Amino acid sequence: MYINHSEIHTDLLVVGAGAAGFFAAIHAKTAKPNKQVLIIEKSNKVLAKVLVSGGGRCNVTHNQTDLGELLECYPRGRALLKWTLRKWGVTNTIRWFERHGVPLKTEDDGRMFPTTDNSETIASCLTEEATRLGVSWKLGMGMKSFEPLLPKGFKVLTDKGDTIITQSLLIACGGFPKAQQFEFITRHGIPIVDPVPSLFTFNIPDDALRTFMGISVPWGRVKVIGMDEGPEKGWFSGPILITHWGLSGPAILKASAFLARELAKTDYQASVLVDWTGMGEEKARSLFDADLLMNAAKKVDNINPFQLPKRLWEYLLQLSAIDGETRVRDMAKSAKNKLLENCIRCAYNMKGKTTFKEEFVTAGGVATTAVDKDTLECKQLPGLFFAGEILDVDGITGGFNFQAAWSTGYLAGVRAIEKA
Ligand SMILES: Cc1cc2nc3c(=O)[nH]c(=O)nc-3n(C[C@H](O)[C@H](O)[C@H](O)COP(=O)(O)OP(=O)(O)OC[C@H]3O[C@@H](n4cnc5c(N)ncnc54)[C@H](O)[C@@H]3O)c2cc1C
Repeated sequence: MYINHSEIHTDLLVVGAGAAGFFAAIHAKTAKPNKQVLIIEKSNKVLAKVLVSGGGRCNVTHNQTDLGELLECYPRGRALLKWTLRKWGVTNTIRWFERHGVPLKTEDDGRMFPTTDNSETIASCLTEEATRLGVSWKLGMGMKSFEPLLPKGFKVLTDKGDTIITQSLLIACGGFPKAQQFEFITRHGIPIVDPVPSLFTFNIPDDALRTFMGISVPWGRVKVIGMDEGPEKGWFSGPILITHWGLSGPAILKASAFLARELAKTDYQASVLVDWTGMGEEKARSLFDADLLMNAAKKVDNINPFQLPKRLWEYLLQLSAIDGETRVRDMAKSAKNKLLENCIRCAYNMKGKTTFKEEFVTAGGVATTAVDKDTLECKQLPGLFFAGEILDVDGITGGFNFQAAWSTGYLAGVRAIEKA
């Protein structure tokens, strides 16, 4: 059978119709309306992750405008984002969506969503703006390989056998779970950092814990023994939730992000400590001692020095083998010590991980040292740009990953079209 393969010409080819690719194409076309911008997408859908993100609500960004604090939320890629976020920060994102008819609202924890609570609003905003500007896109067309042309430009081969000749090439095809999947990039000598998953929950096969599934603390701390990464010497703070599988919630997800590489090395087998009080030993001990002294005549069941959920307190008593009917004054010193220890350093064995359905990302990808921090242009191959999760840049949960996609997409898009 004879198949007639086509040859397409464009000024800028964007590979991947995700958040970064769309934002890049929109800003490229805004900057140079007379240039042609084409997006190719290997699946049959644009903005697939935007649509499912944030449980269908799309956590667009995070209300954190202090650059230093914002950078703390990215376990990888800070040195690059330090520059990118100056050029396109959270305020730019908020204003851009507002100007395009999508006001955002902030939840108590700082996460920002469209006021519609519907991710379709974000996806439609992007597709409508791209259409208005004259960006074109082709679905079901993936990039298979690319070759630089002399003196300038790239020849891209698609998985359908078509050829695309482009002046600038912007790769925004997201993260891949396996290093081999980056071969179309590494074959040009561009370094990648091996990918590992980030943002997952901890599996704790512990029947006693499972009985208390559904219980959460608004502010706890978690630490993986032997891993001291992160701002608080290995402790990660935030809400913690007991689930059917083990432990989840922002503190756990934060730990999974900062320790993504170390945990991958252990094959997700580790010893974990939970501080259910969220306050650390010194403060917790003094509160505990004072409360026990004041309530000496009460039953242990009826005190709650850390204002923990009632069922969690029952669980901690059970773990410490303390009968709730015991009067505080009758508790042995060793029992008190055990109870406090379980409140602040409750030990669990992590055996595996579970994907967090609301948001997960790949740590690793194109090494940030391979791109110019001011342009996101590949140092080895001028005219080639990277944006989004394909870069070794990722954040904790809460809107930080999309913010990185908007920021890198904007910068790479504007610079790539200038080069076209
Ligand atoms: C379930 C889920 C929920 C999430 N929720 C949130 C959230 O609420 N807030 C947040 O900040 N982050 C969230 N994230 C993370 C966020 O979605 C990603 O960080 C972000 O989508 C990355 O954007 P991207 O454009 O770089 O990559 P992607 O969104 O992955 O887009 C890349 C696109 O490139 C295409 N592609 C791949 N290879 C090729 C090829 N060879 N040729 C052509 N096309 C190709 C892919 O099909 C894909 O459409 C979530 C992630 C998941 C999985």
